[in-house]
Amino acid sequence: NCVIFWHRRDLRIDDNIGLYHALTSGKKVIPLFIFDEDILEKLPEDDARVNFIHEELEKIHQTLQKHESSLLVKHGKPVEILKKIIKEYHISEVYTNHDYEPYAISRDKEIKEALTAENIHFKTFKDQVIFERDDIVKADGNPYKIYTPFSKKWLATLQTSDYESVDCASHYKNYAKIKFDFPTLKDIGFTEASIKVLPYNMSSTIIDNYEDTRNYPAIEGTSRLSTHLRFGTISVRKCVKNGLQSENNIFLKELIWREFFMQILWHFPESVTHNFKSKYDGIKWRNNEDEYKAWCEGKTGYPLVDAGMRELNESGYMHNRVRMITASFLCKHLLIDWKWGEAYFAKKLLDFDLAQNVGNWQWVAGTGCDSSPYFRIFNPTSQIQKFDKAHGYIKKWASDYQEFTYPQPIVEHKHARERCLTTYKSGIES
Ligand code: FAD
Repeated sequence: NCVIFWHRRDLRIDDNIGLYHALTSGKKVIPLFIFDEDILEKLPEDDARVNFIHEELEKIHQTLQKHESSLLVKHGKPVEILKKIIKEYHISEVYTNHDYEPYAISRDKEIKEALTAENIHFKTFKDQVIFERDDIVKADGNPYKIYTPFSKKWLATLQTSDYESVDCASHYKNYAKIKFDFPTLKDIGFTEASIKVLPYNMSSTIIDNYEDTRNYPAIEGTSRLSTHLRFGTISVRKCVKNGLQSENNIFLKELIWREFFMQILWHFPESVTHNFKSKYDGIKWRNNEDEYKAWCEGKTGYPLVDAGMRELNESGYMHNRVRMITASFLCKHLLIDWKWGEAYFAKKLLDFDLAQNVGNWQWVAGTGCDSSPYFRIFNPTSQIQKFDKAHGYIKKWASDYQEFTYPQPIVEHKHARERCLTTYKSGIES
């Protein structure tokens, strides 16, 4: 008689809340990961995220082998796989951590029903965030739609116990001693990717200087935590603890943005496909396909926009400042629906996270809950003066920007700015 711990967005065996509860349940634990075929079938063969997941799982598997255990890795439909495993290994309980995305919520609902029908408990825990769902709400019980009061309440609510680590390692002896074979990438239908996820850097240099360095894409001044937080190869409690050590809360406040958008997605799942504020529904997007293609390929003739898109295409990452500039250029200069841009980022970003991507895209487009005002239009040329004065970033990613063959600007800035203001204004008034 064993229990299952099902890893999903938490690819680590230290400081993992659901895993801790499984390991201290008094029963032996079989750790499980399922490559969900419904998700995988939409991805290219050499998807770097699948490579990263596979690598991280292998690390877990190797550590478990030192404890005479191993990781069970399956490929298929989660509900079908779980139904089979519970019979095969006489499972009494399934443990896992919460996931707040609409697809995951409906999948978990189906699984809970299937397990309950077999008298098996499905036990789920908060692990991905410090505060979830209704943990931080307004005095009247409604969710916050504005970041600043949310972050104030978040900080005022925070207790040391909220970010204490849980000690899983002392309980590794409670893993079931079973040997499973570990699949190769090929076994799950994938090939080696050319892009790799970079390690994170939470050194005191990064955190202490964050306020001064975070806006300059030529500098390695940010933590690179996003992909690790997305796949749970680091615990958010550790990140918050580090953030609290700094004299200012600037870094911590970024982690609170992440939690803000997580709770927005939980409360307003329709914001994935609709403008958060319906008054923007009347905007007449131009949605020109050739211009969209030029944007995707980094051929707009605006060096900072092009450098950003090429960084994304070549590395699976883009600096936050440049994400804001490229996204603003798409929605405002080209008047292309933010959903097109969101979809492209979702395909390319290694740190793609539905809550963060949709939240930030709507923020940039001006349609979101707590958005940048629509009349704030980044000037893609003067942003170079402010944030890449020595051209370090554009030289790195769009080195042809001074060459004869470099494309002419796809649209003239002043004209695009006026057109955007008129289009948004008439959209709102319609
Ligand atoms: P750091 O600057 O070191 O920040 C530390 C952590 O704080 C990040 O890892 C992240 O978890 C969080 N954070 C920082 N900025 C934001 C923000 N604006 N919103 C929410 N959380 C934040 N981030 C994603 O994780 N996934 C996405 O799919 C994503 N899409 C984005 C799309 C657009 C249009 C924009 C403007 C931003 C998007 N971001 C997204 C937010 C942000 O750009 C990245 O989190 C950040 O650049 C990652 O680099 P870092 O880890 O070095 O960040």
